[in-house]
Amino acid sequence: EAKSAGRSQVRYFNNAMRSKLKHQADIENDLQHGILNDEFELFYQPIFTLNQPKVVSFEALVRWHHPKNGLVAPDQFIPIAESTGQIIELDRHILTLAAKQLSNWRQQGVSDIKMTVNVSSRHFASLEFIEYIHALYDEYKLPSGSLCLEITESGLIENLNLATKIINGITPLGVQLYLDDFGTGYSALGYLHQLPIHVLKIDKSFVEQLSTKDSPLIDAILSLAKSLQLKVVAEGIETPKQWARLKRKGCQLGQGYLVSRPMPSQKALAFLHA
Ligand code: C2E
Ligand code: MG
Ligand code: MG
Ligand code: MG
Repeated sequence: EAKSAGRSQVRYFNNAMRSKLKHQADIENDLQHGILNDEFELFYQPIFTLNQPKVVSFEALVRWHHPKNGLVAPDQFIPIAESTGQIIELDRHILTLAAKQLSNWRQQGVSDIKMTVNVSSRHFASLEFIEYIHALYDEYKLPSGSLCLEITESGLIENLNLATKIINGITPLGVQLYLDDFGTGYSALGYLHQLPIHVLKIDKSFVEQLSTKDSPLIDAILSLAKSLQLKVVAEGIETPKQWARLKRKGCQLGQGYLVSRPMPSQKALAFLHA
């Protein structure tokens, strides 16, 4: 009996594996089609100062209008695009959408807004990315520093010298580098002062802990950032209590549902004017 139970578990596992692989293959095909078919839309979430709430920039977060599955969240396809390598093309497509939006907002009189775009650390393994970002700034006549990048530490560390070279190649455009999800990776702190980054984003899992008590980890991140002269954005602020604690600790910038969820471009513009 134990044996047959084992067998049916194996069969169950195989079926689950097969449908997972099928799902991935479908997404891979659909992604290709989706880029050509312009199915991706950027939503924008404000990043604001904690002292007196003022929007300083928007983070662009991609959504996929899938012809069959409806609106799909990035967690459902970014990891797959990473594993197939399509992330390079997808991120470039997204960067173009972001640049177009910035230039569109400028035409509507919003001149001083900045945007951060999430990109895969894979871009930091090839010098081509420098040229790509320069061309983008050029084509859309982006003001210095208006488009910035968010990256996670994984993938950067293996290639620290090359990553540093690439970041140094785009910082003359005013492009600032935000280190996303900080504290959740396998960070050896040693690389932090070697990488030419500008901003740390405290992961929302740490901010969540602030709902009940002060967090020694957040204190440590803030003091680390201070000594390295980095700015800090706390992500995932959902309650006034979290906001107050972060502000009291000297965190300058925040982001989260308390102020706004990510929203389509029209709503983001209205939010800015409100
Ligand atoms: P991330 O860059 O760390 O983005 C923060 C995520 O937290 C976003 O989820 C955002 O909607 C969500 N969030 C913001 N405020 C709150 C809050 O107060 N509470 C909670 N619970 N969540 C909050 P989203 O949009 O689903 O994006 C998930 C991840 O997908 C992003 O994490 C980023 O790593 C990736 N991603 C999103 N857009 C892109 C993109 O255009 N390119 C690439 N390569 N990755 C992207
Ligand atoms: Mg991000
Ligand atoms: Mg994050
Ligand atoms: Mg994240």
